[in-house]
Amino acid sequence: MVYMGFKIIGMGACREVGRSSFLLDAGDKILLDRGIKLTPERVEYPLPVNTRLDAVIISHAHLDHSGDLPRLFTKNTPVAYMTPATLDLAEMLWHDSLKIAGIEGTDAKFSKVDIRRTRKYTFPVSYRAELEITEKVTMQFFDAGHIVGSAITKLSFDDVSLVYTGDFKVEETRLLNKADIKIGEADYVIIESTYGDKDHPNRRKVEREFVEACLDVVENRGFAIVPAFAVGRSHEIVDILAEYGVKHPIYLDGMAQKAANITLKYPNYLKDAKTLKRALRKAHWIRNERERKRALKEPAIIVTTAGMCDGGPVLNYIKRLHNDEKSAIFLTGYQVEGTQGRRLLEEGVITIDGKEYRPKCTVRKFDFSAHPGQSEMLRALRKWNPQEVFLVHGEPEKVRAFQNKIKEELGIDAHPLEFGKTVKVGER
Ligand SMILES: [Zn+2]
Repeated sequence: MVYMGFKIIGMGACREVGRSSFLLDAGDKILLDRGIKLTPERVEYPLPVNTRLDAVIISHAHLDHSGDLPRLFTKNTPVAYMTPATLDLAEMLWHDSLKIAGIEGTDAKFSKVDIRRTRKYTFPVSYRAELEITEKVTMQFFDAGHIVGSAITKLSFDDVSLVYTGDFKVEETRLLNKADIKIGEADYVIIESTYGDKDHPNRRKVEREFVEACLDVVENRGFAIVPAFAVGRSHEIVDILAEYGVKHPIYLDGMAQKAANITLKYPNYLKDAKTLKRALRKAHWIRNERERKRALKEPAIIVTTAGMCDGGPVLNYIKRLHNDEKSAIFLTGYQVEGTQGRRLLEEGVITIDGKEYRPKCTVRKFDFSAHPGQSEMLRALRKWNPQEVFLVHGEPEKVRAFQNKIKEELGIDAHPLEFGKTVKVGER
């Protein structure tokens, strides 16, 4: 029989960050991720799936990789594969999106019933377990080091192997082990390109500068507002503040609390669950508006969602403190194009409840990335030694820079996946 190769179709996250979704057609049809893209004006979705899926693989819980999954279960019942922690965290985020849709009066694309169906048709998979997901395709997850439960996926079929990195982090971070990139060689790799154009500064140095900046603010009688992602980053920040022995009050607000409880259910996925637990216990968890007001009585560090300032309690704090020159907003994560956080950083403006604010307090970003820098990714690619690489999950200029670098350093052809386009691979 003639080997017909396989196809990859870019359904989202092609020269952009958000709504990750890629369809692998190797005869059997496997969907890699099913995310959404959140901007202040609207939710953007990946292209619709017009074929019967044999399996769906979710790399990690972040909504830009999992947010549209329950919609696939409104009519069909493909089997979804993800780690148990991803399922728990994603379920929390799906319910939160329903709640937000309810508050904003927008159309939710799925219901609570669909979330239940998604759980029912999800097969939880541990790292390194080898699993035949169809007659033809074998799957294996490896720790991606990006957030709790995140996975790099390796698929094998027809004597070829394909790696999908999802979001990963090659260097170790405070809460998580570094990505497990000892996964053997791979013929093809679909890799994220978020920071395809640069390297990150030394992590310990960023941590130190962040703690010093927080101390400067509170010792000067101000408040440090720290917008942070609910899953992962917020806990990492609390852990760092504890590690450096910060004595000032630290508050944790928003969905980060629920995410913390889920995270602590999976101590095996963490580097040091005990230390994290201790740090989280030391922080004051804000449960209601009254406590939120009380938190603003004495200088404090307030770690709160949303990480890109697109909603959540952080907006409350910014509204109350924007005129206070002694206070500061310290961004701690990637700010996607079009988000409030990105606008705040680049233009110094933020819109809250329809009104524009130009904060007088300090605004600064710290590079606590959970994504690999360029050389971290090259290190992984060198190990995997693929014949061809496909680039996803990056803004156009980052993708271009990374594409050139891969060719230059490794001599490997790298191609960005294009939205709505099909690439044919490996035809002989
Ligand atoms: Zn992510």
